[in-house]
Amino acid sequence: MPSDNSSGFQIFKCQKCGDCCKGYGGAFLTRKEIQVIADNIDADPRSFVAKYCQLSGDKPVLAQGPNGYCIFWDKDCKIHAVKPRACKQWPFIKSVLIDVNNWHIMAGVCPGMRTDVRDSAIAACVKKEIEKQ
Ligand code: SF4
Ligand code: SF4
Repeated sequence: MPSDNSSGFQIFKCQKCGDCCKGYGGAFLTRKEIQVIADNIDADPRSFVAKYCQLSGDKPVLAQGPNGYCIFWDKDCKIHAVKPRACKQWPFIKSVLIDVNNWHIMAGVCPGMRTDVRDSAIAACVKKEIEKQ
């Protein structure tokens, strides 16, 4: 989960509810991300996938803990500084630029996203945030 947006006026501010960190298959990891996260938590990169990931097809995603949340969620993201790109980008993703309705669908599961602003303003803000990524 990111924290908020800084482009334009604020349309997103994370409430740290953890809802986006719950459930299977949210965060795909690249080989480089595995290395960076493993370094951050002093884990052996060779065993990181076995210990902290599940496979989705043949791709590693962060595993869920027994509580159903991401294994790195504990009242907050424990790897915030090195979390995967997918987590850093949310909710500023390209599919919103393709169809702004996707913003409203995503907002149904994310209380940090505002829906009380014009779609054109949402799209402009998302575009700016994506350009900064
Ligand atoms: S669902 Fe939204 S508000 Fe809740 S932690 Fe995730 S990004 Fe933040
Ligand atoms: S890495 Fe952090 S932000 Fe991403 S799903 Fe796990 S706890 Fe949530």
